[in-house]
Amino acid sequence: MKVVVVVGGVGGARFLVGLKSLLAGSEHEITAVVNTGDDVWMHGLRITPDLDTCMYTLGGGIDAERGWGRAGESWVVKEELAAYGADPEWFGLGDRDIATHLVRTRMLNAGYPLSAVVEALCHRWQPGVRLLPMSDDRVETHVVVEDDGGRRAIHFQEWWVKHRAKLPALSFASVGAEKARPAPGVLDAIAEADAVVLAPSNPVVSVGTVLAVPGIRDALRKTSAGVVGLSPIIGGKPLRGMADACLSAIGVETSAEAVGRLYGSRRMSEGGVLDAWLVHSGDRCDVPGVAVRAVPLLMSSPEATAEMARAALDLAGADVD
Ligand code: GDP
Ligand code: CA
Repeated sequence: MKVVVVVGGVGGARFLVGLKSLLAGSEHEITAVVNTGDDVWMHGLRITPDLDTCMYTLGGGIDAERGWGRAGESWVVKEELAAYGADPEWFGLGDRDIATHLVRTRMLNAGYPLSAVVEALCHRWQPGVRLLPMSDDRVETHVVVEDDGGRRAIHFQEWWVKHRAKLPALSFASVGAEKARPAPGVLDAIAEADAVVLAPSNPVVSVGTVLAVPGIRDALRKTSAGVVGLSPIIGGKPLRGMADACLSAIGVETSAEAVGRLYGSRRMSEGGVLDAWLVHSGDRCDVPGVAVRAVPLLMSSPEATAEMARAALDLAGADVD
């Protein structure tokens, strides 16, 4: 069984843990196509938050409570940078994490593409899932905001982490996306998959950014595999995080139905990517041309998440024995 999952950070990583445990007993290959629109240069280091969240979560190195960064982290370098007044001070740069960023930055500077860097880092973490960046090219999500200083575009991390998404966003831009190419392996994995899953990740700045890389949306529309999405919105709210602020900015209601319609039907809507859409039990939802099923969608344990993955593969027409 070959499964491709489109993911962001925390929501995507947790889903992958459940899918991996569901398929543990059978021969399988899971490929995650990971958002890199959150990636950023800080203090001379290239930081790839969603790739790291997936790698650490699957590899057992994550701080489970925080949901990102390393377990047992210390913050000495961050304190020292702050003592110099070195901007930005609002970004969580842990000491253990910095080692990862140093290895990555050194490899990138030596000319390795990001996909090769991820592969090298995964030798240590053995995530059990093939992690592919959506692209080796630089794509960065920027947010157009307006405050006393007027209208300007800031990096997604500044909006999300420093402003906690409280500065009203007027729009998002995936800078570099038009010219970006899917990373090696991405299109082939989608074409050869038995099932493709859109994880319950942020529909705008995680899944939406992956879909903005030319070629990926088309590959999803053309694959012979069933394409199934899971809603990150339950009872009209995101589970954690501030996805509602992203949806409002693009004029989409925060509901499972509106997100399902945003992704759209492969059969019936132009550019649509879904055959089926999973929403949380009790959420009412109609998406024209898409099979909708309601099941529990709370990733409260790996077992509960594995059941979500089972429902997704079932809807995609891929049998798990
Ligand atoms: P990020 O990059 O770390 O923000 O993570 P993702 O984009 O992968 O996932 C964020 C999304 O995960 C949020 O919009 C949440 O609504 C969703 N999410 C988190 N936990 C759960 C859960 O238990 N169930 C569902 N259905 N969605 C969840
Ligand atoms: Ca993210």
